[in-house]
Amino acid sequence: MKVAIIGGGASGLFAAAVIGRSASVTVFERNEKAGKKIYITGKGRCNFTNLCSVNDFLSSVVRGEKFLISAINAFPPQKAVDFFEMHGLKHIVERGDRVFPESNKASDVTATLVRIISSSGGKIVYGSRVQSVTTSDKGFSVIVNGEEQLFDKVVLATGGISYSSTGSTGDGYKFARSFGHKIIDPMPALCPIILKDDVSSLEGLSLKNVNVGIKCGKKEFSQFGEMLFTHDGVSGPCVLTLSSMINRIEGSKSLVIDLKPALTKEELDKRILRDFGVYINKDFKNSLDDLLPKSLIPYVIERSGISPYKKVNLVGREERQRLTELLKNLTFTVDRLEKIDYAIITSGGVDTKEVDPKTMESKLISGLYIIGELLDADALTGGYNLHIAWATAYAAARHIGGFV
Ligand SMILES: Cc1cc2nc3c(=O)[nH]c(=O)nc-3n(C[C@H](O)[C@H](O)[C@H](O)COP(=O)(O)OP(=O)(O)OC[C@H]3O[C@@H](n4cnc5c(N)ncnc54)[C@H](O)[C@@H]3O)c2cc1C
Repeated sequence: MKVAIIGGGASGLFAAAVIGRSASVTVFERNEKAGKKIYITGKGRCNFTNLCSVNDFLSSVVRGEKFLISAINAFPPQKAVDFFEMHGLKHIVERGDRVFPESNKASDVTATLVRIISSSGGKIVYGSRVQSVTTSDKGFSVIVNGEEQLFDKVVLATGGISYSSTGSTGDGYKFARSFGHKIIDPMPALCPIILKDDVSSLEGLSLKNVNVGIKCGKKEFSQFGEMLFTHDGVSGPCVLTLSSMINRIEGSKSLVIDLKPALTKEELDKRILRDFGVYINKDFKNSLDDLLPKSLIPYVIERSGISPYKKVNLVGREERQRLTELLKNLTFTVDRLEKIDYAIITSGGVDTKEVDPKTMESKLISGLYIIGELLDADALTGGYNLHIAWATAYAAARHIGGFV
């Protein structure tokens, strides 16, 4: 049996590695090397799975949770770790059960997969951008670099449309559409949020242990942890998570930071009064050093409307209340999400209703499989998205290889 895998990224390589010798596999990769996106995952270290339970895994899935139940149960995180260990890739587990190669090199993940494929006789053809895939009575016709090649089965593993310089430019949507598949609008996910407010003076400021909320009409989402100001908005772990939660909600949105979530307004007021006592003869602008990061102070002072040169003993109760309110609810207007090209993951893709969740085979075209980020399934950061690539590839490979 001849199998074409279109895309030599995480999912395509993994499918080829699992199919192994049970079929004649050709991976078509448009780039001159495999797994270009894998190289940049986890800041070059590749957080390749998350050693959590299947239930916890599924609760980190933003879209496609139900669809992924079978695939993640059949290939839970421990299996990914075992698979790579078995092929010589040692791992380390870090905070939040994130798993990385012990070498801290993402390239070792790709190298391991490429080695498995070549040792089982699979072919990876580089510099070969597939132009079209169609069916005929001879099977699947794949047009690559102007030439037709015939296959019995085809796996679409072309990824989404984020970080398009790695090769994921959305070709798979075109192929899937040509077979009648519905594409759920691709949207940026796990991406920075651009604000209407000018926050350029805060660029580079990182805040820990804050609560970041997004209000969209009656809906509210919030995350506790770390965030970061960029030149035109916000990023960092809390913000990336929030971006995935709100990317399909229309209408105006505001972003609210609680800079002191551990304190109630009353407790915060007492704390400010205490600090004012310590800095009794100072100007207001010199009284907040114990409360806030240095680079945030001028911004907060400006928004508080309190003169920076007012002596702290002259700052009245009403002004203090304004300050407390500001620190508990530092509010910005959301402009939009960052462009999809800068999103860590693409939300949306091939409608999972049209794909068999156990095998990843198209329900519309027999012998056609759809895996990885090309599917309308995405998760939060922490190794879940690569694991979705492995697990969906595993499901397809087992079916193609006749293991199930
Ligand atoms: C900056 C960044 C950091 C990330 N870090 C992590 C992380 O640490 N952990 C995690 O779990 N996830 C991470 N992700 C997400 C993860 O990289 C993706 O979930 C994963 O790569 C998806 O795999 P895929 O095989 O579906 O798509 P891709 O890896 O994008 O692979 C698709 C492949 O198909 C090829 N292709 C496309 N069209 C064609 C065509 N017509 N013909 C031939 N080849 C084609 C492309 O060149 C590409 O190599 C990160 C993503 C980014 C952008």
